[in-house]
Amino acid sequence: MISVIGAGPAGSFYASQEKNEDVHLFEEHEVVGKPVACTGILTDSISRVTQIDPNLIVSKINRFKIVAPGGKSIYIDLKKTNFVLDRARLDQWLFQKAVDNGAKVHLGERFEGMKEREGKIRVKTSKKTYESDMLVGADGPKSQVAQAAGIYGDRKFVQGWQARCKFPNLEEGVTEIRMGVGEFAWVVPEDNKIARVGVIGMDNATLKQEYQNLLGASKIIEDQSGVIPLYNPKQKLQKGNVFLLGDAATQVKATTYGGIIYGMIAGTYLAKDKENYSKLFNQKLGRDLWISLKMRDYMNHMSEKQCDDMIGIFKKKNNADILAEHDRDFPSKFIVQLLMKEAKLWKLGFDIFKNKHFN
Ligand SMILES: Cc1cc2nc3c(=O)[nH]c(=O)nc-3n(C[C@H](O)[C@H](O)[C@H](O)COP(=O)(O)OP(=O)(O)OC[C@H]3O[C@@H](n4cnc5c(N)ncnc54)[C@H](O)[C@@H]3O)c2cc1C
Repeated sequence: MISVIGAGPAGSFYASQEKNEDVHLFEEHEVVGKPVACTGILTDSISRVTQIDPNLIVSKINRFKIVAPGGKSIYIDLKKTNFVLDRARLDQWLFQKAVDNGAKVHLGERFEGMKEREGKIRVKTSKKTYESDMLVGADGPKSQVAQAAGIYGDRKFVQGWQARCKFPNLEEGVTEIRMGVGEFAWVVPEDNKIARVGVIGMDNATLKQEYQNLLGASKIIEDQSGVIPLYNPKQKLQKGNVFLLGDAATQVKATTYGGIIYGMIAGTYLAKDKENYSKLFNQKLGRDLWISLKMRDYMNHMSEKQCDDMIGIFKKKNNADILAEHDRDFPSKFIVQLLMKEAKLWKLGFDIFKNKHFN
């Protein structure tokens, strides 16, 4: 028996790919996908993992508008459309895929602990104890499985404040990114009236205030806030027959804090090759996650002037084209190309580095 804890995208997608016929998927909530704590924006890279049902798409994004703290802005026309999904329905759709693959599902049943005995794992839930051969923790940022197995590690979190709300002056098809508000803030339109509006950063009173300023007088329809783990390159993904997936394994890219695609890709690796799961994940995705972490660190230390300089650099058509063409989920594919083409980026990088370490 394989026990999978958490019917989010990582757990359900893994259960939909697993060949073992005795997979049990446990979800603490009675209804999959709720409450939502996500913007639900995915790049075209999702097609590397699965073909998304078009009925899940709420809106399509073809342009990004990046606004510096001083007000300078730039539009990037994407070569490949981004999708804004109904996140609750995405989770339910993936859950159904797991059911179609034969997973036995346990809704409203919470993982509470585990004990290893004679090669088996005794998985204790809020309803029963199960003798399992393998346990998969896909139970989100504060993973109880990781805690129970002793592989929680030294993880850090950022807070994402987000609301689905009625928002003024929306540009349909354009995601707005505001630099210097928290780590960054976003306005992702569903249509010309409703948007998913949020800000991310270290959880403190300033961030909450910035969020309230961002929302202004807009009418909140649904609070969709939540915590996000910071990728930890030292995070253990496995201990014996216990494995971690998705947010539970800190598999989130720090540039935009998107984790859906990474968690799902990790699910395919685990289903394919348990013995080499950790190695495969780190080999294939570790570099991109590490680059994202470094990029985020640099971006968080940029002054207002450096943000303006960055906007200036990307106003050049050649540089904007590189951003527009490549998938931000995998920065290793374009970062070298950008650095080769744009000497000013080196200078900017050195300046940020200098301030960060010596001021
Ligand atoms: C404000 C915000 C905006 C975001 N926007 C995006 C975005 O646009 N694009 C993107 O890719 N990512 C985004 N993310 C990140 C994304 O939401 C996560 O990376 C993603 O949900 C991770 O999926 P997961 O399956 O690993 O974990 P989760 O989605 O957290 O699923 C874990 C599941 O486990 C269940 N669970 C937890 N504990 C237990 C237990 N003890 N027993 C049983 N079940 C349990 C939970 O109920 C949940 O259903 C955003 C996050 C936030 C907070």
